Amino acid sequence: MRAVAEESRDLADELQRVVQGEVRFDGATRMLYSTDASLYQIQPVGVVIPKRVEDVQAAIEIAARRKVPVLPRGSGSSLAGQAVGAALVIDFAKYMADILHIDRDAATVTVQPGVLVTPLNGELAKHGLMLGPDPASADRATVGGSVGNNASGSHSILYGMMADHVQRVRAILADGSHAAFGPLDAAALVARASGDSLEANIYAQVPAIVNDAMGDILARWPKHWRRASGYNLDRLAAALLPADQRSRLSFDSRFRPPVSDPVAIDHFNLAQLLTGSEGTLAVMTEVTVGLVPRPVRTALAVVHFDDLVEACAAIPDILETEPSASELLDRHMLDLARAQPAFAKRLHFVRGDPAALLLTEYYGASDAELAAKLARLEQHLALRGWKTTTVRVLDKAKQNDVWTVRKAGLNILMSRRGDYKPIPGIEDVSVPPERLADYLGRVLDFCKSQGDIPDVAVYAHASAGCLHVRPLVNTKTARGVELMQALGDYACDLALEYGGAMSGEHGDGFARSSHNPKLFGPKLYATLQAVKRTFDPDNLLNPGKIVDAPPLTEHLRFGPGYQTIQLETVFDWGADGGFAPAVEMCNGSGVCRKLGAGTMCPSFMATKDEHDTTRARANALRNALAGRIPADQLFADTLYDVMDLCLGCKACKSECPSAVDMAKIKSEYLVHYYRHNGLPWFNRMMGLLPTLNELLYKFAPFLVPAVNWGLATPAAKTVLARIGVHPARSLPVYAPETFADWFHRRAAQRAAQGPSTPAPNDPVVIFHDTWVNYNETGIGEAMVRVLEAAGYAVRLAEGHKCCGRPLITGGQAEKAKPWIDHNVALLAPLAYQGIPIVGVEPSCILTLRDEYLDLAADAKRARLLASQAFTFEEFIAREVAAGRFILPHSDRPRRALLHGHCHHKTMVGNESTVAALEAAGYTVEVIPSGCCGMAGDFGYETGHYEISRKIGEDRLFPAVRAAAADTVIVASGTSCRHQIEHFTGRQPVHLAQALAAALTD
Ligand SMILES: Cc1cc2nc3c(=O)[nH]c(=O)nc-3n(C[C@H](O)[C@H](O)[C@H](O)COP(=O)(O)OP(=O)(O)OC[C@H]3O[C@@H](n4cnc5c(N)ncnc54)[C@H](O)[C@@H]3O)c2cc1C
Ligand code: SF4
Ligand code: SF4
Repeated sequence: MRAVAEESRDLADELQRVVQGEVRFDGATRMLYSTDASLYQIQPVGVVIPKRVEDVQAAIEIAARRKVPVLPRGSGSSLAGQAVGAALVIDFAKYMADILHIDRDAATVTVQPGVLVTPLNGELAKHGLMLGPDPASADRATVGGSVGNNASGSHSILYGMMADHVQRVRAILADGSHAAFGPLDAAALVARASGDSLEANIYAQVPAIVNDAMGDILARWPKHWRRASGYNLDRLAAALLPADQRSRLSFDSRFRPPVSDPVAIDHFNLAQLLTGSEGTLAVMTEVTVGLVPRPVRTALAVVHFDDLVEACAAIPDILETEPSASELLDRHMLDLARAQPAFAKRLHFVRGDPAALLLTEYYGASDAELAAKLARLEQHLALRGWKTTTVRVLDKAKQNDVWTVRKAGLNILMSRRGDYKPIPGIEDVSVPPERLADYLGRVLDFCKSQGDIPDVAVYAHASAGCLHVRPLVNTKTARGVELMQALGDYACDLALEYGGAMSGEHGDGFARSSHNPKLFGPKLYATLQAVKRTFDPDNLLNPGKIVDAPPLTEHLRFGPGYQTIQLETVFDWGADGGFAPAVEMCNGSGVCRKLGAGTMCPSFMATKDEHDTTRARANALRNALAGRIPADQLFADTLYDVMDLCLGCKACKSECPSAVDMAKIKSEYLVHYYRHNGLPWFNRMMGLLPTLNELLYKFAPFLVPAVNWGLATPAAKTVLARIGVHPARSLPVYAPETFADWFHRRAAQRAAQGPSTPAPNDPVVIFHDTWVNYNETGIGEAMVRVLEAAGYAVRLAEGHKCCGRPLITGGQAEKAKPWIDHNVALLAPLAYQGIPIVGVEPSCILTLRDEYLDLAADAKRARLLASQAFTFEEFIAREVAAGRFILPHSDRPRRALLHGHCHHKTMVGNESTVAALEAAGYTVEVIPSGCCGMAGDFGYETGHYEISRKIGEDRLFPAVRAAAADTVIVASGTSCRHQIEHFTGRQPVHLAQALAAALTD
């Protein structure tokens, strides 16, 4: 027998010869594709990233010949494990993501499977259209994956599920042949069944299989329309039944979306069978989906309840008022949201401490219509005896806040630190809404009766009878695994009893497929198996999902045997329970794969490659720490490569709903990596710069002009290039006099002129960073002028050291510790006196608030210092709000275009910069930019130059280039300003310079 490795190499070689896209069989790639957003983990055989339909066809044909399973994949955000397997993964999301045709009249769109739902909706909005199903994961979910999962969302009570909209599909079948599926009448169905192709055989067999099982389908099919379990045989059955018999398939509940009525299904359409088949029947290469009109206006009523089960009991009454959605959030979720600043600031719609909220939305053509609908809801609830508080949310931005919290629901839950995690399994049962309260009550009682389940979180689609119930279970213990099984079994019993399904939305995958024999009963289950065999006789398409599945407790990412290597860390990881637990916080939900919005993750936005996501970095490290790859690989180049393109922008700290802090993780990792592999010259130089600058001005300031001249010479460029600085980059020029010297000289001159009048406002200490002190001294000067003009007594942080950022990001965090301890000792006494310490450079001053807490020897004093450390923008916004900062500025109209520094956006937000600019009379437009691409010294490195450019080109550079000549481009980050100037030719200014310009005019 040939060795597996040899066979895999042969397969890779054969694929390489025919595929125009990428073929990757290396260990790192296989590791990165071994998870999705589920509890499961399996290494694939290899990965193909196709560029054309021909690539997909060739890959499947070759795999079929070699009897290698195939697994189509979108963004891998599946929650049940359907996007992982020991198969050849075909990743559609990188290249096959085009919108092929929008037919406005027919209200349809034809796309390649890899297009993301949110950007697609952005295009469709231009035509007043959108996809009906709206999965909460839409910002990274692909259309292919959404069809594969039969996705639905908060508005399913109006729009049903994906299967209600998919019209046509082009696909590659299990043997590598092409097929096109769409609606067929009886004659066309017969015609398609002739011939000896796999497609013809499918058309010959599947109707017969369904007809044979018709009696059982009518008698035993789940009676709830919200079903993602099994295959959509009910849809085929409806098409095969005479029109007057179709109503026998109708669902139990009074409340169901009009589009989900089987009575209306009059064509046999295998595209609808492929929908929800989780890649087990065919691999789609093109999909045509029907669209719905975008709502004109919406309003939300946030209905508060003191009891969770009661909230569910109110659902039928709420549904009588015909909302477009009614979504549940429980107290557990609200508590976790309160603990995360990014969500806490959006919770304006919560009053007191409710046990549950029903976020109930209405559509309307006018505000008056919406107001009437909200009033009707309130009256109706009162009439039915519900004593509730209702918060009306009419403002669009505030409604967005509500939906942001709701859509991040699961991720917020997953942000819980520790080994007890809210596990899926029973998370997706759907029952008729009339029975929801009863169902929930019993599930909660069952969880309570089990012990070792500290809590249960509940949220989601109450209006559709589909609640995500997530008990806290520790799957790293044998008891936890036992509980998983027990919970799944109980949920299946209840689903059967209530006429629902194990999955109402997230699909079967590994989590629920093993319950399908029980859910559907032996006869219908055999029918599902027969359908699978007809499409895929050799069981090669995503095997083990929907039918013939392993137990739900196999292939766990964290099972009882899970252990990790303990590193002696430089940072304090106490709050996470250790370094490995911090890495394990990534739950794979893939928000770091979104495009064109927010900042996380800039490297993925530039490459669209899984390798460059936050998830990939966490995945790689987790596997290495858990010994799933040989121990020596932890500090090998492959792992370093996965970490390399992390810019340390910190966006994941706030945008990753699990708050995975990859910038900090990378800083820790690099310390250990460089201990094993030696520190590169580039990092040495960047780490030494603050010291060299200090020495230059202390001992040889007269050399400054010569140094400036020397640095611009070709010889210096050559030396810099040798240590890794890209030749197109130039280092900042040294100033003739340091900012500190300017400050002291000016103070001395003033003192010589006699006593000055005391400043009306309190003193402020400026924390001047290396760049402002030695290079861009004008910024410091502007800051002093502005603060003094607004009445503050300005002092300098005398004798401080560099904040340590270049060392921290450059893998030398331990060397930064003495500087950090020095600064804490020097500045904490000022903080104790309540004196604000205001930074010029956002990334420097925010280091005092972030990394200092994990690196300082005296944590208590570091916390004290952090409490008084402010960015310039933050300080001004605070003072403006308190009525103390009043800038005497000219009335000339001024426009500013703002790009926020990543660390500032993460830890503070852009709002303070806007407030500061407005206080000086600017009209401000914020560029919806992500990272600039420079990120400290990242963009200087030769190997990073191109990606650095691409990141900036995503949104930032085009916005800057389009700005009018008299618009001031404001960017407070030094690296952001250099990057903008380098690639656009526009010269941005620091906030202080913008304010000073308004002052001096
Ligand atoms: C936080 C969070 C919230 C979520 N909320 C929702 C929600 O509200 N509603 C919902 O429905 N789901 C939800 N999901 C689940 C999931 O994100 C969605 O179902 C999503 O639509 C899947 O898209 P994807 O691109 O990630 O697909 P993947 O996970 O990559 O794939 C999904 C399935 O489709 C198959 N597939 C992918 N491409 C093809 C193809 N070309 N041909 C054939 N089969 C293919 C895969 O094999 C797999 O079985 C959520 C997930 C997370 C993490
Ligand atoms: S890093 Fe965060 S956003 Fe990305 S997959 Fe992990 S948990 Fe999700
Ligand atoms: S720090 Fe920035 S670049 Fe690094 S993983 Fe997080 S979002 Fe991505």
